Order: sequence, then structure tokens, then C-alpha cells
Amino acid sequence: MTLPITEKALAAAAGWPVVHAARKLRDTGKVLRVSYDPPLLKGAVRMGSRTYGAGLRLGPELENLCSCFDSWSEGKVCVHSVAAALVLIQEGSKAPECGPKALTDTVSPSPQ
Ligand SMILES: [Zn+2]
Repeated sequence: MTLPITEKALAAAAGWPVVHAARKLRDTGKVLRVSYDPPLLKGAVRMGSRTYGAGLRLGPELENLCSCFDSWSEGKVCVHSVAAALVLIQEGSKAPECGPKALTDTVSPSPQ
């Protein structure tokens, strides 16, 4: 599954500092699950003692659907949603059989 979005596009929407923080969340296993049901990307991201329900509507304009303060108070594309997107981008860049099973299982195939 390849997302119709790149890390560069995420950086344009959220800023590089957010993308760097999001990479850290991804690399430390804080992204608990991700799913992509076009155009909606959803994820659960652990930060501190809380788990955020991250989400992005992918389109010409990114719409952040995360449950966190940055998202609903300021309409920012936040670190949680970016982290969830980064996991899917990373998955999409690998051959499907090489991806971690837990992650590929949560990505629903698009209906034909
Ligand atoms: Zn968030």
C-alpha cells in the first residue's frame, strides 16, 4: 500500500520539527496501530501517559482529525497524525512480505 502523500508533503503541512518529532515516535514504537481507508488515515499514538487517536484526511488539503489539543485548538497538523502517516509511508516503501505482520494486518486492502 502506497500512501498518496510523502514525508515532504507532511513537512510542508506540519513543519520539519514536527516531522522529526514524529519520526522519533515512530522509531520508538509509539505508534500503536495505523490503518488507511482512503482518504482517511487513522492511528493510535502513545505519548507520555496518553494515547491519542490520530487521523488525517488525505486530499489536496490535509485535514487533521487527531484528538489532541494542537489539532482541535489551532487546526495544526500535529505530531501524532504525522507519526501515523510516517509508519504507513515506511510500510509502503517496503515489499509487502517484508513488512512487520502486525502493521500490515491493520492496513485494510482497498476494495477492487
Ligand atoms: Zn495530535
